[in-house]
Amino acid sequence: MKNRSLRNRKNLSQIVQMLNAESVGQVCTCKAIIYYIVHDYAPFYKSCTKIGCQKKVIDIGDHYWCNNCNNAIPSPDARYQLKARIQDDTESTLITIFGDEAEELLKHPASELKNLIKSENGIQTIKAIIDEIIGTLIVFEIKISQYNIQSQGRCGFTAYKIFQVDYKLDSHQIQEQIEQVIEASQIFNDTFQAHTPT
Ligand SMILES: [Zn+2]
Repeated sequence: MKNRSLRNRKNLSQIVQMLNAESVGQVCTCKAIIYYIVHDYAPFYKSCTKIGCQKKVIDIGDHYWCNNCNNAIPSPDARYQLKARIQDDTESTLITIFGDEAEELLKHPASELKNLIKSENGIQTIKAIIDEIIGTLIVFEIKISQYNIQSQGRCGFTAYKIFQVDYKLDSHQIQEQIEQVIEASQIFNDTFQAHTPT
């Protein structure tokens, strides 16, 4: 089976163009560079501690509540929710990177950064740590949602998974594409010659 980071590889422009009702649920990968972090949002949220839920919890005074589990959550986790602008040669878009994926990129657990908030210059320190990922080339796995179709991609996508760029794998993929083009033009030439009157 093809390496997951190469599956259904598209460029950003192709992804925006494929946003129609039939593409809901389609999973594709794209390789893009992070060029900006949107700092208008808190980089983490308080999340449900139940495995498999991790939804945002509501602060109701003396405790937190998860609407998804219908349960009180005594001490919620801090979970990343990073909004970044990414671009490739064709297009730029917003992407949200959650939880473990963001942690893998930043190499700092969310709880660690969250503890910095109260320290002196904490917010600036957190921003600086997050901004370190600017300029990183990443392979993003995106799953097209109904929401993406409605907003036609303007509100951005969610990164379901991220992969470090494997240059060896990637060059192999390019090689394969070149071979396919050569093959196709060979077939075209053969057909063309077969139909040319002599
Ligand atoms: Zn929950």
